[in-house]
Amino acid sequence: MPATVAVLGGGYGGMTVAKALDDVADVVLVEPRDAFVHNVAALRGVVDREWTDRLFYRYDRLLERGRVVHDRAVRVSGTEIALGSGQTIEADYVVLATGSSYPFPAKIDVLDSAAAKDRLHATRDSLERADRVLLLGAGPVGLEFAGEIRAAWPEKAVTIVDPAGDVLPAFPVEFRSELRRQLEVLRIELVMGTSLRDQPPSEPGEHKTFTATTGTGAEITADIWFRCFGVEPATGYLAGDLAAARTAGGHVEVTGDLRLPGQERVFAIGDITALPEAKMAKSAGDHANVVAANIRTLINGGGEALTTYEPAPPMIALPLGPKGGVSYTADTGVLGPDVTSEIKGADLRAGYYAEMLG
Ligand SMILES: Cc1cc2nc3c(=O)[nH]c(=O)nc-3n(C[C@H](O)[C@H](O)[C@H](O)COP(=O)(O)OP(=O)(O)OC[C@H]3O[C@@H](n4cnc5c(N)ncnc54)[C@H](O)[C@@H]3O)c2cc1C
Repeated sequence: MPATVAVLGGGYGGMTVAKALDDVADVVLVEPRDAFVHNVAALRGVVDREWTDRLFYRYDRLLERGRVVHDRAVRVSGTEIALGSGQTIEADYVVLATGSSYPFPAKIDVLDSAAAKDRLHATRDSLERADRVLLLGAGPVGLEFAGEIRAAWPEKAVTIVDPAGDVLPAFPVEFRSELRRQLEVLRIELVMGTSLRDQPPSEPGEHKTFTATTGTGAEITADIWFRCFGVEPATGYLAGDLAAARTAGGHVEVTGDLRLPGQERVFAIGDITALPEAKMAKSAGDHANVVAANIRTLINGGGEALTTYEPAPPMIALPLGPKGGVSYTADTGVLGPDVTSEIKGADLRAGYYAEMLG
């Protein structure tokens, strides 16, 4: 009998590892959503109606042999998985790939893709009617969202508020200067080093005019606001002997070969890992390839040494609309709008993932 591999979560990491092992194992991919969400493009999917459809890809053609179970893992102990439906799966190998949540619209909090599209369309309608947009958080999400809004509606005022002293302080000064230059050209207002005294009186994404006061006493009037901070790893299901691998922040400790410490057959990949690197779809895919190679080795008798993963150095491709943005890697240094548009801005890597999902 072929080995059973249970992959929990069908995001960037989970679908990659499931597909890579489909020829050698009985793969069971557990994913509550009816379609893969390409959330790297989510912010374009808010401002551009055509892109809304390009965020969702059904799982039907991902696996040839394996199956996708639309359910949620609620308790995982060793290689035993309890699902929300009450069913259990006992697997030979488990890959934890449940990713993270982030306030809408950067990540989509609706499981049904038709309902998710309705929510995106409704948010676009509210945004369309707003003259002044307030974004809380000047991390990659807040900055990218600001760029998308200005590219779609050049007449709207966009203000970003963040308590940090500077934008993306983890990156070199040349990167930040180029970023600030482009934000100025786009007339995106940055209010740094402070936060709002009180949360706005409306819900995020709701069209309702309000005036908020910052900690430094400045008043900002806006017609709509969005929360652009607050990522949370999804690991609440870890139980029994796996619970010890969960850190205080909710991430999962992993060894060099991406297993949980002390576990022979339980691996973790993607945003849930406590690896010292930025949480990225690209890294989730790299983790998936390492884990797929390691499970293949173990299935084949474990004769070879397992592959180890080296955390990625800091890198970023930050689009500011389809044609703007700035990127950085240690090898290339700072790259401007044209290259950023080529790397990410124009296609947002939708073609790559659409092909993987058949
Ligand atoms: C707006 C935005 C833009 C981004 N742009 C980039 C970019 O340009 N490049 C880049 O590399 N990264 C980018 N990222 C980061 C990237 O999206 C994440 O790093 C990536 O989603 C992580 O992949 P993952 O497979 O770990 O998890 P996820 O993609 O979060 O997928 C996890 C899956 O697990 C499922 N799940 C959750 N709980 C359970 C459970 N209990 N049981 C079963 N299934 C479960 C979820 O439904 C989900 O489908 C961006 C993020 C955002 C928000």
